[in-house]
Amino acid sequence: MSSSVPWRAIAAIAAGVLVVTLSFQLPKSSDSAQNTDGQQISSASDGAVIAGARDSVTAPPIGQPAKDIPLPLPGEKPKQVVVISIDGGCETSGGVATDLLDVAQTIQARITFFITGLCLLPDQQRNAYNPPNRPRGSSDLPFADAAMVERRVEVFDRMYREGHEIATHFLGHFCGPSGVGTWNSADWDSELTQSRKFLDNWAKYNPQAASAPTLSFDSSVFTGSRTPCLEGDRSQMHRSFAEAGFRYEASDPGALQWPRKHEKSDLWLFPLPAIKLAGTEKWVLSMDYNLLVNQNDGEVNGSKETCQRVEEQTYDTMMMALEGVYEGNRAPLVIGSHLNDWLCSAYVKSLHRFLKDAAEKYPDVDFVSFQDLADWLDKMPKNVLSELQELEAQRY
Ligand SMILES: [Zn+2]
Repeated sequence: MSSSVPWRAIAAIAAGVLVVTLSFQLPKSSDSAQNTDGQQISSASDGAVIAGARDSVTAPPIGQPAKDIPLPLPGEKPKQVVVISIDGGCETSGGVATDLLDVAQTIQARITFFITGLCLLPDQQRNAYNPPNRPRGSSDLPFADAAMVERRVEVFDRMYREGHEIATHFLGHFCGPSGVGTWNSADWDSELTQSRKFLDNWAKYNPQAASAPTLSFDSSVFTGSRTPCLEGDRSQMHRSFAEAGFRYEASDPGALQWPRKHEKSDLWLFPLPAIKLAGTEKWVLSMDYNLLVNQNDGEVNGSKETCQRVEEQTYDTMMMALEGVYEGNRAPLVIGSHLNDWLCSAYVKSLHRFLKDAAEKYPDVDFVSFQDLADWLDKMPKNVLSELQELEAQRY
């Protein structure tokens, strides 16, 4: 019947025309075309909002000061560096990212934040995400609460301005069977392209976050990655990441040893080392989740006593690892964390204490990002580096 159909149809067409018209009228800075995907974002099929009238990001990114780590001379003990690497990095209502930034500021630490981009994509926009091998709009991590986005953008901006590294932990965080372990390089390409899209266009998906600043960086600052649950077919991943121009990959398990480059892809491999769990003879990957499995059977809730025990043991574990490499082979110490609130935030609290106390006990230690580490290793004389790489994994 002609009387019931047309209004809806006309309204839909009119809305479509409006979307297309607005998207073509958007001003574009000369560099934004490669980083933004405004026309696709405006398509009705992915459920996204109409592009806003302001830019999401500064393109190109503002400069960050270089971190100069002195190069070792042959036979000289190199600087001890520590890399704190955070998976997620999205601000919470409790302010966990800001708290870490405050601590980092007091000791001039630079941290690597592997951000999960879905924390800027509100739940209403979930269908904009089309994950490999999973239904459109699905994710193993929650999509964003729209009210949190503004604060997250402010905190990401602060991170970058204070010299921290922004890298990627991708989007949907699919672990286990049918997760990222099944992805080929085209799947990784797709995930990475979408990771860039949701960062570079966050404002267009979040018209409600009108007072958030323009981000001082865009996704061109991604030069490395850590995969969800450290999973993924290495050859497929490495091919995709090397083509994307990445410099390093940080998803392998490893030991307290000097890093090496992956020959085929030329990526630096920066593994999470096994470190000794204080008070035991167990060697556990230096990541909150792996510690939790060994300290409390993976159980995230516990009594006050359990929380206290785990906080102390985690703190001691990190201090012992630092002492081990500092007095030993001086391998860069890599520590991973999700900044979660497990066990009364025992891992966050111990990380804060570790940073403050380690900086005080070892004033010559540098807390640097993976990017700083890659710069340092690339500048190191070949013969000096290869001698360091020959050293055995540090035990203590
Ligand atoms: Zn993760």
